[in-house]
Amino acid sequence: MRGKVYLVGAGFGGPEHLTLKALRVLEEAEVVLHDRLVHPEVLALAKGELVPVGKEGYGEKTPQEAITERLIALARAGRTVARLKGGDPMVFGRGGEEALALRRAGIPFEVVPGATSAVGALSALGLPLTHRGLARSFAVATGHDPSLPLPQADTLVLLMPLHALEGLKERLLERFSPKTPLALLARVGWPGEAVRLGRVEDLPGLGAGLPSPALLVVGEVVGLYGELLQKDRGL
Ligand code: SAH
Repeated sequence: MRGKVYLVGAGFGGPEHLTLKALRVLEEAEVVLHDRLVHPEVLALAKGELVPVGKEGYGEKTPQEAITERLIALARAGRTVARLKGGDPMVFGRGGEEALALRRAGIPFEVVPGATSAVGALSALGLPLTHRGLARSFAVATGHDPSLPLPQADTLVLLMPLHALEGLKERLLERFSPKTPLALLARVGWPGEAVRLGRVEDLPGLGAGLPSPALLVVGEVVGLYGELLQKDRGL
């Protein structure tokens, strides 16, 4: 029997954000290789063997090559494998790299989209990325390396920003006024969820002590937060 690999998006939060397809694959996969950014209640839905392969600051690091080699070996042994990633596998999840490696090795694979934190973490809190009259574009970028220029958009979502807030402030001031509202959203949909509202000028202090994972959203839409923030989430 020929094995198959599913590159599965677990969504950014708990199991309610999983797609039905992701749930089916989790139930059918014999082996589930997962990142640490997958919610424990999602992992609990897997029926097969769970193999943690954390990287990029989340848990023990497994080199990317070792992960892809393992996926290929398991599929060649005829196993059905789920490679489970937080959010969407194709958004800063190295899904593309793994897909290319599988394609080159001749392994059948399928990508199962997930709710990315870059969009879902905002909407789960009741916050829009676009808003008539305020924002007609949004961009998602990594905040990991603040020496690189930021994309141009009305609303800017920066992933992995926490260690780089000082440098990001300088970059943001090239695009936005110091008074532009921003929010740091941490652990959305996870225990310890936290939201901090401020302005560009409040960086980097606004992020002090905030748990990860967190993202930064900047733009006039953030000014709606005071009114729109879903209070029933206990924020
Ligand atoms: N593939 C993932 C992103 C991986 S990069 C996705 O589509 O969501 C990891 C970054 O995602 C974190 O540093 C953080 O910026 C963001 N992130 C992931 N889950 C999050 C959550 N529950 N709350 C806030 N930010 C989150």
